Amino acid sequence: MKLPIPVAVCGALGRMGQRVVDAVFHHERLELVGAAERPDCPDIGQDAGFLAGLGAIDVPVMGDFAKAMARAKVYIDFTTPEAVMANLRVAQTMGLAAVIGTTGLDSAQQDFLAQAARRIPIVWSPNMSLGVNLMFKLAQLMAKSLGPDFDIEIIEAHHRMKKDAPSGTALRLHEVVSLARGLDQSSMVSGRNGLVGARRDDEIGVLAVRGGDIVGDHTVLFAGPGERLELVHRASSRDTFAAGAVRAAVWIFDKKPGLYSLSDVLGL
Ligand code: NAP
Repeated sequence: MKLPIPVAVCGALGRMGQRVVDAVFHHERLELVGAAERPDCPDIGQDAGFLAGLGAIDVPVMGDFAKAMARAKVYIDFTTPEAVMANLRVAQTMGLAAVIGTTGLDSAQQDFLAQAARRIPIVWSPNMSLGVNLMFKLAQLMAKSLGPDFDIEIIEAHHRMKKDAPSGTALRLHEVVSLARGLDQSSMVSGRNGLVGARRDDEIGVLAVRGGDIVGDHTVLFAGPGERLELVHRASSRDTFAAGAVRAAVWIFDKKPGLYSLSDVLGL
């Protein structure tokens, strides 16, 4: 019988964090040993399991990331880009492995993450679901196979509280299909308004819808002459993302430093 892998969760009281606390707690290979939140969070000191609806599990929420990580070998981070940066600084000195689901990192923050991955193993994925990671592969194949006669548009929809737009998943879909088409970042058009003229051949629309409690929908539309194909993924529960994050925690535990994706974890 293998020893359990000690895991801590950062952003433990957030929408995702609570589901991750639940998933780690119930996973047979993992032990939940820490929970971190903002230092000024009013629930510091409360039991993370109690606040996540699990009942008391004797894991207090801490405002000090390093203290919350004291017993951990792996941490799972669903917070904000700023918190991801601060956490990585500490995680490198502690030699932790990281599973990061946080989106909205700018290019400087992504560079910092890549630097950190020279010292510690990191899984960073804008979407922890099996379905979306398969969608990345299918979108690439479709973009290549259908060719330039088919215009590509990406539409995403999320709940009204989501902070970043377009979603990290939509940005990754854009990256995948633009590379498959021999285009670059400048092909992205985020929204159209006014007399914008006819669609250029080399543009890819990436459009964000916000409303209600939508967990996360993504569509890649391939519109060609006389026909169109739509690749659609709809997430109906955050538990799907939490399951992917705990799978990544088990996988990353004994890996060498490096930057990995969920596709690496899933072997896609
Ligand atoms: P959320 O409900 O706002 O949760 C974020 C949590 O992190 C909040 O409790 C927040 O506290 C906390 N936090 C902020 N700064 C912190 C710090 N310095 N240290 C510790 N905790 C801190 O957001 P969410 O919906 O869970 O999403 C979180 C992130 O995950 C977003 O970037 C989202 O796009 C991403 N996401 C990724 C996936 C995926 O599969 N990869 C799936 C869903 C969401 P306050 O509320 O007090 O600020």
